[in-house]
Amino acid sequence: MNPNHEPSTMNYQPLNKKLTYLLTLVLLSTALFAQTKKQGFVYKDPKKPIEERINDLVARMTIQEKVMQLNQYTLGRNDNANNMADPVKDIPAEIGSLIYFSSNPDLRNQVQHKAMEKSRLGIPVIFGYDVIHGFKTIYPISLAQACSWNPELVRQATAVAAQESRMSGVDWTFSPMIDVARDARWGRVAEGYGEDPYTNAIFAVASVKGYQGNNMASLTNIAACLKHYIGYGASEAGRDYVYTEISNQTLWDTYMIPYEEGVKAGAATLMSSFNDISGTPATANKYILREVLKGMWKHDGFVVSDWGAIEQLRPQGVAKDKKEAAMKAFNAGVEMDMMNQSYNQHLGDLVKEGKVKMQLLDDAVKRVLRIKFRLGLFDRPYTPTTTEKERFLLPQSLEIADRLAQESIVLLKNANKTLPLTATAKKIAVIGPMSNSKWHLLGSWRAQGNADDATTVYEGLKREFEGKSQVVNALGCDFDGNDKSGFEEATNAAVGADAIIVCLGEKAQWSGENASRSTIALPEIQEELLIALKKTGKPIILMLSSGRPLALNKLEPLCDAILTIWQPGTPGGNPAAGVISGRVNPSGKLAMTFPYTTGQIPIYYNHRQSARPNQGKYQDLQIKPMYDFGYGLSYTTFEYGELKATAQKVKPDGTLTVEVAIKNTGDVDGMETVHWYISDPVSTISRPVKELKYFQKQLIKKGETQVFRFDLNVKKDFGFVNGKGEKFIEEGDYFVIVKDKKIKIEVGN
Ligand code: BGC
Repeated sequence: MNPNHEPSTMNYQPLNKKLTYLLTLVLLSTALFAQTKKQGFVYKDPKKPIEERINDLVARMTIQEKVMQLNQYTLGRNDNANNMADPVKDIPAEIGSLIYFSSNPDLRNQVQHKAMEKSRLGIPVIFGYDVIHGFKTIYPISLAQACSWNPELVRQATAVAAQESRMSGVDWTFSPMIDVARDARWGRVAEGYGEDPYTNAIFAVASVKGYQGNNMASLTNIAACLKHYIGYGASEAGRDYVYTEISNQTLWDTYMIPYEEGVKAGAATLMSSFNDISGTPATANKYILREVLKGMWKHDGFVVSDWGAIEQLRPQGVAKDKKEAAMKAFNAGVEMDMMNQSYNQHLGDLVKEGKVKMQLLDDAVKRVLRIKFRLGLFDRPYTPTTTEKERFLLPQSLEIADRLAQESIVLLKNANKTLPLTATAKKIAVIGPMSNSKWHLLGSWRAQGNADDATTVYEGLKREFEGKSQVVNALGCDFDGNDKSGFEEATNAAVGADAIIVCLGEKAQWSGENASRSTIALPEIQEELLIALKKTGKPIILMLSSGRPLALNKLEPLCDAILTIWQPGTPGGNPAAGVISGRVNPSGKLAMTFPYTTGQIPIYYNHRQSARPNQGKYQDLQIKPMYDFGYGLSYTTFEYGELKATAQKVKPDGTLTVEVAIKNTGDVDGMETVHWYISDPVSTISRPVKELKYFQKQLIKKGETQVFRFDLNVKKDFGFVNGKGEKFIEEGDYFVIVKDKKIKIEVGN
């Protein structure tokens, strides 16, 4: 053996090893690359279709990782008094969702970094929040929005809320609330769009479009959540968190309508409600969640429980413990557990025990991931840093809020043209507990809104009448209690005034969640203040701010003019001042009936036909409410022509157009809303006396005439639904109704 070879042989080995190592490396990385290309990390590839990414990701997840996607905790300081819970300090990197109590994206980004970097699969968190009527720019409460009858304006306002929220780190709002509500004692009437299913449906669609836009992945859009699915508005006697009695017929012809339309409009999520539906809690209700929502309506997003609603199945009497509650809610179709920790504690075991099917778990996770992908969270998990000035209270945002507040004001009485106050009014007294408040004008659920950004009614009026009239102010009394010591100052302030604007109403916390009232009359002290001011002999203008209709039977006869400004949000008293001066011609109309007294509740326009329509009234009460649904005055007058239809007889699958010409006969321009109702006097099912099917708002200049048209689809607009959700149309006579005008249309082949 050539010794010289030895070294070479000797040398050969390491070289060989090195080569083998290198080769292995190359082979390994090629294999890895091939594997990645073949089956790996598809979910991280933004170019892949969302469904492929979801399937890829779910296939990689452990049961525990799946379960964690279905839990929601809180992050930040919880300022919701009804849902006090310690903020969860140790947020697991695998958490599915967080309620984000902050207006600063930094904390979100910090937690999101943890989720993306410290969890095995890097799944982003979805951050939700109650953005109910604005985030920082607060616009009027939903009940007021409905009174504007301007869904396009509501779409714009919700788009502002979406922009402010998303830029602050919130991806998802728990809004809109579309619970048809007919009991004004219920505090949450403030949060919905009133008593009518169609109205709730239209504003549901408008706000889903505003929040979500055409592309939820845009950095100015957020996911919407239709709530509270379903029947919460029927809570007995307007008490919160209680039971409901809803027949299948009423469920379908009243409560389902807004949800079906909201789902069709693409709402990403829904929230299950606290109440039961005739014995079956909504949160454990397979029929409404699985059969209807996911089965019939094919909703492919997810359902989040209301706060603690899963564990509440125990006090509701359908689950013996938290584990059983988790099983019932999950199997019924609630995918995410809000603040209960019932899924993370029990779902894994329930799967292992065969009580929850793996396929259902996968389906639930896919639904949550689908919305995260649609929001673009996998590809852009962090919120870009911007200044508050760049995202909040932008001039165009404030302008939208201001217009919406203007259009939601309803003028309820205007005897002898008391309003508007002309330049001849030299002194105006603004009196009452609401007159100089910013706080209460924001209403409940004000998200990150600051009362300091709002204007009081007094400030608004001072600015409005600057250089023209002297505006003086006194509170007179508090919102409640019996301290009348301020009455004298108030009546003194009114001396020499040409008009007294009496600002009464409800504190912000008197409506909203867990804020029901046994009477909708104002506290006596407020009524007494108005009575004392009436004694001055001056014209009395009652300006109301509240989160619900009020009983005005005592005050109405004492007032020359009455208007409600609801809870207008950041614009505060400015829009109201515009109405008082005439700069703004009021165009709002009621989306919820004002009962005459509390004892008249429930009272709503679309009740069923009764056996004796002219009898059966309370002996001690007028049959009519104080103000009907759809009622509202203007500073001008409108003259309605006769209804004209393109046909008097139509086929059940046909269409027709009905029109009405309306003339502005007054001396100022004004906006008018036409409500188109139908009635079906004879049907298999006793139907409501009339049903709103369409509305339209238009500006009519003084002296001009505008034609309003309703393109009617016979099956959809004359048809009805039965207790199984089946839609049908019957042959016979129907009526189209506008105000006191009606036209008969025959449906037949
Ligand atoms: C309310 C929901 C709200 C949730 C989260 C619940 O108490 O009923 O409307 O979205 O809390 O704050």
